[in-house]
Amino acid sequence: MAKTVIIGGVAGGASTAARLRRLDEKAEIVVFERGSHVSYANCGLPYYAGGVIQERERLFLMTPQKFRDILDVDVRVDSEVIDLDPAAKTVSVRERSGREYAESYDSLVLSPGAEPMRPPIPGIDDARILTVRSVPDIDRVKDVLDTARPERAVVIGAGFIGLEMAENLWERGIAVTVVEALDQVMNVVDFEMAAPVHHHLRDKGVGLYLKDGVQAFVRDESGLKIRLASETELLTDLVILSIGVKPDTKLALAAGIELDARGHIVVDEFLRTNLPGIYAVGDAIVAKSPLTGKPMPVPLAGPANKQARLVADTIVHGPRKPWKGSIATAVAKVFDLTVACTGLSEKLCVREGIPFRSVIVHPGSHAGYYPGAQSYALKLLWNPENGKILGAQAVGRDGVDKRIDAIAAHLGMGGSVHDLAEFEHAYAPPFASAKDGTNYAAFCAENILEGLTNSVSWNQVEAWKVRGALLLDVRTPQEFELGHMDGARNVSNTEIRARLAEVPRDRPVLLYCGVGLRGYLAERILRQEGFTDVANLSGGWKTWQAATAPQTNPGSYRPAQQRPHDIMHDDTVSEGSGVPENLPAPVGPTLHVDTCGLQCPGPIISLKKAMDEVAPGTRVVVKSSDAGFSRDAQAWCNITKNRLVSVTEEKGIWTAVFEKNRPAAAPAGLTNPVPGMFVSGDEATIIVFSNDLDRALASFVIANGALATGKRVTMFFTFWGLSVVKKREKVKVRKDFMGRMFDMMLPGNANALNLSQMNFGGVGAWLMKKRMAAFQVDRLEEMMAAAIKAGVHMTACQMSMELMGVAREELMEGVETGGVASYLEAAGTAGINLFI
Ligand code: FAD
Repeated sequence: MAKTVIIGGVAGGASTAARLRRLDEKAEIVVFERGSHVSYANCGLPYYAGGVIQERERLFLMTPQKFRDILDVDVRVDSEVIDLDPAAKTVSVRERSGREYAESYDSLVLSPGAEPMRPPIPGIDDARILTVRSVPDIDRVKDVLDTARPERAVVIGAGFIGLEMAENLWERGIAVTVVEALDQVMNVVDFEMAAPVHHHLRDKGVGLYLKDGVQAFVRDESGLKIRLASETELLTDLVILSIGVKPDTKLALAAGIELDARGHIVVDEFLRTNLPGIYAVGDAIVAKSPLTGKPMPVPLAGPANKQARLVADTIVHGPRKPWKGSIATAVAKVFDLTVACTGLSEKLCVREGIPFRSVIVHPGSHAGYYPGAQSYALKLLWNPENGKILGAQAVGRDGVDKRIDAIAAHLGMGGSVHDLAEFEHAYAPPFASAKDGTNYAAFCAENILEGLTNSVSWNQVEAWKVRGALLLDVRTPQEFELGHMDGARNVSNTEIRARLAEVPRDRPVLLYCGVGLRGYLAERILRQEGFTDVANLSGGWKTWQAATAPQTNPGSYRPAQQRPHDIMHDDTVSEGSGVPENLPAPVGPTLHVDTCGLQCPGPIISLKKAMDEVAPGTRVVVKSSDAGFSRDAQAWCNITKNRLVSVTEEKGIWTAVFEKNRPAAAPAGLTNPVPGMFVSGDEATIIVFSNDLDRALASFVIANGALATGKRVTMFFTFWGLSVVKKREKVKVRKDFMGRMFDMMLPGNANALNLSQMNFGGVGAWLMKKRMAAFQVDRLEEMMAAAIKAGVHMTACQMSMELMGVAREELMEGVETGGVASYLEAAGTAGINLFI
């Protein structure tokens, strides 16, 4: 009777034992597990902490007793294997009681898993710093949550488990901050696919620090202080350390089993180690990736369980079925979003030197006309040489997992984008569209392969600008007004045929629209009209805007009791209506508009249409499934001077209440007719024309003073004034001769400005700065920082920038570019307009 010993009794180990018994009733099977539990749901641990899974018992799928009763498997918990003797084919076991003994085997299966990394950071041994891997780990977390009742928690590491923990702590009413050393969360997906998650975390009130590592943990009277590399200090009551795992393979190493440089057990296609009769599965191993042909660890439960099944087969039947390798398909819930991926990401392709093309689309979870459709972002990567699918990633609220599963099925079988284009999915309006998002992404890929379109990704826009491309925004003028790329020209796709003369033929043209479709339509028109150097932005404004917006949200600790879906624009809200109680009664009946399923600009267009139809003082309630709608709604109200009364969110549906402006209730003067709306006299504009230090100082003294009196301030930097808002560090940009001349002759930034009088070759400016320090007057740069922080709207004149060869990249963070219209818009309602 063959005897198999298995080390590790959870995912890989338990599955091996169960399959082995099903294949061989006579086999002797012994499982050693160091902990007290076997076959438990480690993937469910975060949800137990959050109270989503309420009964601890539900985590345990099997017990040693059940293993014995149902499968006749000898499971020995609290039994650590402390030594292997491959020559003698024995393992040494130490029980929790201290008793040690040896056990022989014919076949040995290692499934020891991985352990959380705990780098030697000063203070890391503090009892408030916890990891999540096993049942005892989560018991500790639960105990802290139930007894110490922490108000603040910091999750370090924003991988899948870190974010699941963040969500579950938040569910418990804890103010959560996430700290990540990389520039994005969930590193398995590409940056632009992680960007919506960054914004979602902000929407949920979760603090997010990216590109910031922990330097030290310091005990503090009021909590535990986390010192970050940026010198930010976060005070917290609890830390969840989730910065990755390392294989638990000390035992294998000591026994002479071959490991890779990172300590993973190296296995062949039959999951055999280098020592005869010894197999390994799960998080501890590294196997060849079918996509790169190189070893790639995949610490996921799916592969561990499937490897276990194959090893059992091999032990019983010999090497018949090889392990093809894992394509790394994963999914996670992050608050209301689902993030999923399969295969290679763009950054992995770049790292491995694998040729790829990619496209991003934003399809609906099901037919737009059927209620409740929500859009998700889907990125598809393929090999341009043969069209084979390389990978896919998706993020959204609904339908994400099934799309990634469908693509994973194609990818796993070596499918191409042509196969995916023909993929016949189950369709009825509540479930999908006749052309599913997966088909749609594949159609785009085919169009690219056939040369019908040149698709450009969001991070190539700057390169197109450097090439001198015209950015052509083919959305509607209303969408353009709500936000557009600096320097873009607006010709909507419905007008482009009539306005072809406005599209230059002597420079490249980069088209963009909301999500990529209208840009493609416009590109096809241009190409057929003889334009050749033209391209379309993949994923459109939606992807570009999410990826280029600020990603972190320093200091956004917010008690969870005050969650975004509870946040109103006023304090008192009448129950159920979503409308603040203290407003004057609306005029006439409220108009309800349901735009769910409509993509941008659908909701805004519907809103405008409804507002045009109703009388002043009437309320319009708009429901939208577009996450960007809440921001667009505010921007639209700012421009149109209508009132956004409230925005609420529930299960991915945003409900915004608007009130049409009541001109009669808005007397000219200094008071606001409706709280939150600015009227004439509440604004100040300053044109900064000069690059003299004293004049720049005066501008910012006035700006900060105006802010302090509650005014909204717009500063417009034009001609020489552009020097004031240039970055301190030199940015490399390509310039023409005159641009280079201006660069040489003008001050490079605010720190290099001269006085308008008594400058004496810079000595005057130096003396002035000394004097300001002596009189404790803030330096210009400090004044500028204060102004930016307080919300001064700073705009650099686009025309002056072009004349003087100043590039967008040279401007300080927070400075926008605009034309005279943007100045006039602000000046038109301002009570103070200054030219300095
Ligand atoms: P494990 O399941 O970790 O089992 C290893 C066992 O071996 C341990 O219990 C350990 O005590 C025991 N052991 C180690 N050395 C010895 C020894 N010398 N003697 C005796 N016993 C020993 N994956 C997904 O695909 N999806 C998810 O949603 C997901 N969520 C997760 C959430 C959390 C919180 C965690 C921790 C993991 C999650 N995973 C998820 C990963 C998944 O759980 C692992 O990939 C999987 O459990 C690996 O199986 P394994 O058998 O290799 O290791």
